[in-house]
Amino acid sequence: MNNYTLIGPFKQLLTMHGLPLKGALSDQELTIIENGGIITYKDKIYAIGSYADLQKEAVPLKAAIVPIASEMVCMPGLIDSHTHICFGGSRAKDYALRNSGKTYLEIAKAGGGIWDTVTQTRKASSSLLTDTIKERAGRHLQQGITTIEVKSGYGLSVAEELKMLRAIAAAKNDCDADLIPTCLAAHMIPKDYNGTPEAYLEEIANDLFPILKEEGLSNRIDAFIEEGAFSKALIAPYFKKAQEMGFDITVHADQFSTSGSAVAVEFGAVSADHLEASTEQEIALLANSNVVATALPGASLGLGCNYTPARKLLDAGASVAIASDWNPGSAPMGNLLLQAAVLGTFEKLSNAEVLAGITVRAAHALRISDRGSMVPGKLADFVAFPTNNYQEILYQQGMMAPVKVWKNGALVVNKEA
Ligand SMILES: [Zn+2]
Repeated sequence: MNNYTLIGPFKQLLTMHGLPLKGALSDQELTIIENGGIITYKDKIYAIGSYADLQKEAVPLKAAIVPIASEMVCMPGLIDSHTHICFGGSRAKDYALRNSGKTYLEIAKAGGGIWDTVTQTRKASSSLLTDTIKERAGRHLQQGITTIEVKSGYGLSVAEELKMLRAIAAAKNDCDADLIPTCLAAHMIPKDYNGTPEAYLEEIANDLFPILKEEGLSNRIDAFIEEGAFSKALIAPYFKKAQEMGFDITVHADQFSTSGSAVAVEFGAVSADHLEASTEQEIALLANSNVVATALPGASLGLGCNYTPARKLLDAGASVAIASDWNPGSAPMGNLLLQAAVLGTFEKLSNAEVLAGITVRAAHALRISDRGSMVPGKLADFVAFPTNNYQEILYQQGMMAPVKVWKNGALVVNKEA
């Protein structure tokens, strides 16, 4: 059996290759191959270029041929670098109460808020959690999202966080999208913990971190740094331990109040996510660091809040990724392409900036360099949209879904079949 496959021709092949990881981007910087093709070898891209040239190259390789009959735009598989799609229950009641003018405190008193999701997630069996992750990941895959970060953080004890991360691992083994698990045991101070917040974090670091390593459950530690959640002073020793053990750090930062982004920069976090409250000072800090600033427009849409100042971050020189934050409380929609397109209209972002934010810069936020752009050697993760002009993808504001999705060289979505 031969493992080379020639796929094409695509009217436009948008490689997202060769773009700088930081700073503003113009659409002129995009590499677009007209009438392009791809040769894959097993799970990787072997060659990419003009379809006519690749047809010749394919002959000695005895490549199988997958013809693309109608006009399509091909681009890298999308990457959602921040989600909470492992959860039980629904927070529709919170949404209604919030939109009726109730405060955060009133909603918490009515039994809502993160703790409600913690209760529902603890009640759910691990197989139910695995099934719901697979269902949500499957929905994402239909939108062209081939890599999805998934956080724990609704367990909030060693045992319950383990249950979540094992459910994520089980879903990862049994779905076409790639899942990148993150431990968010520092999501909120658990209401039922019998001890100080310091003791809770110490217990997580001492008892959970080693198991994450042993079982290969996650290489990433996240924390919600916010008034009412974890302060810089509380989180510093926790992050220090995580770093000593070789974990990557990522931070929920500057959502309602500032300080999280400074912690992210101090600890050399891979990303600082949210940043809706960031001021010039935080923007400058992030821009002068290698921390990826991740905008989460789904949370702005869910809460009716400001958007992350993506334009200012890019102009200052930061690397900006865009993720869905899909979660039951503040971002229930989970439509990454719609949210990225809307952020683009409000923040005045170029096509290149938005598309880089959900491909190559999102890969950088997860520190995975094997995907996010199309070049020989990278994973054969790519999607084909039913249009002859790449500008239509964002113009349609999430209403245009890809008709074909390839993950690791395999055609996993085919709406033309
Ligand atoms: Zn989040």
